[in-house]
Amino acid sequence: MTNKTMSEPVHLALPDGSPAPPPGCKVCGALAAEGERAQAAGDLSKVSDCNGEIREHKNAHPRRQR
Ligand SMILES: [Zn+2]
Repeated sequence: MTNKTMSEPVHLALPDGSPAPPPGCKVCGALAAEGERAQAAGDLSKVSDCNGEIREHKNAHPRRQR
């Protein structure tokens, strides 16, 4: 029993720019706003930092909670 034709499209973050913050998450919303400000200021390392934390949404933001 093998599933040979299991292809599911995987949508990760956009190649450049910020990942879309899931609606309803205050942490992601704050991170997105922070990332936008950092981008406007040219602080790209902070931008990628924020983006990385938004991607951790699915893991319940381990760096933000407790
Ligand atoms: Zn989140």
